Amino acid sequence: MILPKVRDPRFITLRRGGTLTDADHHLLARLSLDVIPRLPMQTIEFNGWVLEVDRGATEAAYAEVVASSTAECRCADCLRFDARRSELLHPAARALFRRLGVEEGKEIDLTNFGPDANGLDIWDWLYPFVGRIVSAPVKAESNGQTAFSSLSADFALGFSEQATLVGEPFHKRGPVVQAECFYYEGNAARAAAEPS
Ligand SMILES: [Zn+2]
Repeated sequence: MILPKVRDPRFITLRRGGTLTDADHHLLARLSLDVIPRLPMQTIEFNGWVLEVDRGATEAAYAEVVASSTAECRCADCLRFDARRSELLHPAARALFRRLGVEEGKEIDLTNFGPDANGLDIWDWLYPFVGRIVSAPVKAESNGQTAFSSLSADFALGFSEQATLVGEPFHKRGPVVQAECFYYEGNAARAAAEPS
């Protein structure tokens, strides 16, 4: 970008000697977000999250994806997941994904962390959508990249705008969010067995 030699003081913040207040600085930032790609975003609230989604663009992107990454990979973990996908996905997450335009059979980046010393087996997989995160629940936990919250003793759902593993069919249509599913196999049974 080419800047004029003498900058307009209205666009310089007070602490740098201009006349722009922090509040106006934020408004300008919001304005630039508003005028860049003007997308028909719909706001969706879910479990304390506020998300924006372009459902039409998300559906069009999924239509371009031929198969899930697990169907293409076909390693032992991916085959186990393919056979159990609908069992592992929490019904509330499934209902949300329908509203977002996500196809649950076209996940990406499945990882199985295998049973740990306590027999806890963690499945982790992603679904992209075209949209933005407006706000996360106050109670959300974070693993550094993804903020997430529990839907049950054995299922958590998170969202991140750092969607580096997501393909071109999504990124070419606008800003991308990846929803991340965590299924903690055996956790519900353990919670039920513990004396309360
Ligand atoms: Zn695999």
